[in-house]
Amino acid sequence: MNAIPPPLGIVCELTHRCPLQCPYCSNPLELARAGAELGTDAWLRVLDEAAALGVLHVHFSGGEPTARKDLPDLVRRASANGLYTNLITAGVLLDAAAIDRLKAAGIDHIQLSFQDVIAESADRIAGLAGAHERKLAVAKAIRQAGLPLTLNFVVHRHNAERVPEMLALAESLGAARTEIAHVQYYGWGLVNRAALLPSRAQLEFTLQVVQEARARLAEKMVIDYVVPDYYAQRPKACMGGWGRREMVITPTGKAMPCHAADSLLGFEFPSVTDTPLADIWSNAPAFRRFRGTDWMPEPCRSCDRREIDWGGCRCQAFAMTGDAARTDPACALSPDHALMLAVAEGRPEAAPAFVYRRIGHAPASVSAEPVPAEATV
Ligand code: SF4
Ligand code: SF4
Repeated sequence: MNAIPPPLGIVCELTHRCPLQCPYCSNPLELARAGAELGTDAWLRVLDEAAALGVLHVHFSGGEPTARKDLPDLVRRASANGLYTNLITAGVLLDAAAIDRLKAAGIDHIQLSFQDVIAESADRIAGLAGAHERKLAVAKAIRQAGLPLTLNFVVHRHNAERVPEMLALAESLGAARTEIAHVQYYGWGLVNRAALLPSRAQLEFTLQVVQEARARLAEKMVIDYVVPDYYAQRPKACMGGWGRREMVITPTGKAMPCHAADSLLGFEFPSVTDTPLADIWSNAPAFRRFRGTDWMPEPCRSCDRREIDWGGCRCQAFAMTGDAARTDPACALSPDHALMLAVAEGRPEAAPAFVYRRIGHAPASVSAEPVPAEATV
């Protein structure tokens, strides 16, 4: 008997290839090369298995998913299977014809990322000249095709003061939803934490702008807001809880409960190439390990928020303390919360240079090892 409800969505990270080099990219430091990616048939089978399992949404992500020539075929199969299809893209490889092909294949929604509203700054953050202008053209083409559009802005110390202009741009482009998301410090974001972490004043400014815009634009646009954990009192419900709502499949076919789970040492994540999706979801030890509340230590175990935030983020607990089973240090009740406060208080006055995200360029000083606690204070 299977008492575990199916995942609401699967995130298909089709590739790690991407023309951009964002220093906050959530992809792992060791990026998969094109030759190691799952082929079309394997992804089509995953989409069939997802529908049979009862999944409702599929998010095509990456890297840059439009780098895959078979993307329309995958969208077509997902759509034929009754899955709601969302494309998460940086947009620079798209044009009106490609958008039309995706629309004909059945894409339901496109989420387009922007790095800033000033082209010079946006291109510097993306590590690609001309990227911003191309994104503006793509946003217009998406709307002209009649597809619903979400704009995603990743916010940090280099662009936080321009959140008002970001929201104005989203409004002018006809976005139905905008995400103002502070950098999450995993993967390349963790490598670049000192270069990206905003000040508390910047955080408060962005929150105030979002609150005002939500009231003003309530009829026009939904605004999502993601805070940086380093100033939080309570953690996020990371992925809606470990193994509860989402499954992430990497370009090489590894199935994981979240984007950053590959950073956890000592975990073996099953492959969709040799294990059916339903079996992975219900039975894989890595998915069961932090599912629900039985695994929780104190203070989570007796906390009345344990089924609201599910103890926060396992990858953050691991990155900060070396133990994925500890309470997320973002929580003020965590015995490790001082580690988080020390990082925020130790934020450098001058931002160091970016370490850009590049295949084959994992920084030698930051491997896949956890950040030792003493290095974070
Ligand atoms: S965050 Fe930037 S580098 Fe990473 S996949 Fe997205 S667009 Fe590419
Ligand atoms: S103690 Fe645990 S369950 Fe309670 S708020 Fe903190 S992280 Fe959430």
